[in-house]
Amino acid sequence: MLAVSNKLTVADLPDSAIRGKRALVRVDFNVPLDEHRRVSDDTRIRAALPTLEYLAEHGARVIVLSHLGRPKGKPELKYSLEPVSRHLAGLTKRRVRFVETTDTDEAMKATLSLPEGEILLLENTRYLGGEESNDERLARALARLGDFYVNDAFGAAHRAHASTEGVAHHLKPAVAGFLMEKELRDLGRALADPERPFVAVLGGAKISGKIDVIEQLLPKVDRLLIGGAMACTFFRAMGLETGKSLVEDDRVSMAKDLLARAGDKLVLPSDAVVAPSMEAGGHARTVARDAIPADQAMLDIGPRSVEAFAQEITAARTVIWNGPMGVFETKPFDEGTRRIAEAVAAATDQGATTIVGGGDSAAAVAQMGLEDRMSHVSTGGGASLEFLEGKPLPGVAVLDDARG
Ligand code: ADP
Ligand code: MG
Repeated sequence: MLAVSNKLTVADLPDSAIRGKRALVRVDFNVPLDEHRRVSDDTRIRAALPTLEYLAEHGARVIVLSHLGRPKGKPELKYSLEPVSRHLAGLTKRRVRFVETTDTDEAMKATLSLPEGEILLLENTRYLGGEESNDERLARALARLGDFYVNDAFGAAHRAHASTEGVAHHLKPAVAGFLMEKELRDLGRALADPERPFVAVLGGAKISGKIDVIEQLLPKVDRLLIGGAMACTFFRAMGLETGKSLVEDDRVSMAKDLLARAGDKLVLPSDAVVAPSMEAGGHARTVARDAIPADQAMLDIGPRSVEAFAQEITAARTVIWNGPMGVFETKPFDEGTRRIAEAVAAATDQGATTIVGGGDSAAAVAQMGLEDRMSHVSTGGGASLEFLEGKPLPGVAVLDDARG
């Protein structure tokens, strides 16, 4: 288990190692763009600003790498980082240069002619065939673009790609940025030394993607609250009718086993909001969990479940939340998720450490305007999940260790 991180960070580098040097910084600028190719949510860009500003302030020539979307190893205009460079210029009030290539002579020249304190954004790393395969030659080519390496892309740290892992073998020092450091510290502390009661709330669509998280958390937590469609697989394991709910048939026996082992640690919803379909919100009603009609689906947890979950959450001193309680994208099935988010926010207000991981959970919290009332909302969905599973993150493992 990766506990609190012991990696070198940009703050450990002496001034002389930064000033005038080319800092090659991998960030996660994988942000949504609207139909005019404008950045529609800049959370991830803002999250990387402390590192970029620190480097610029200390006289580095800041060269930024990121992926955006899934362009499959070749250029595709809709995944260009060019709109992101304009947005970044607006946020930093600095000149941000952009070149349309990444591992070419042209990119190299641009890095060499970049003045101190300025930022150069290179084109999408996933335009390059060798990025996702962590090609050795590409890693070496990327390493030539900087004099030292900084990884601030927590959201991509669970991928061993050329720009997140390979490059760090060839470019030293290789250190963590401030966002990376904060993510590892906040997630790591909660797992390594949680103040009790420690409550985990899990939800979302599929139990299959979160089995390892359940296994990791179960021995550590005082309570494991389960909502979302995941709960339905447990209902099936209990022999209840689940109607048209999303159930993973091939996970039912595993759910049975978990129920037997978990005792009263594992808390399932006692009631459900059901409807004939997601589109039929007008026909939604609340039923007890043993009364889900055969022609309906559970699309949210019910009010009694919300009440019980909220009580556990507000009494907790540490809360980890991953996965929405229902189909929060569609009213009225957002209610359970909203009220759980409010309970987590209330726990934070009372001094609890509260951590939200998971892309959709983070989006739900943002949509509800409750981001600032959580101790930590992870910028990395998949990465935070793998961290919670206790897996080492390749983009972190490769960074230089702090001494002592
Ligand atoms: P996260 O990204 O936070 O880890 P997941 O990706 O696991 O969360 O799950 C999010 C998805 O789960 C959402 O799209 C939501 O609509 C869906 N979901 C939650 N509850 C249900 C349910 N009862 N039935 C169907 N889908 C659900
Ligand atoms: Mg998701």
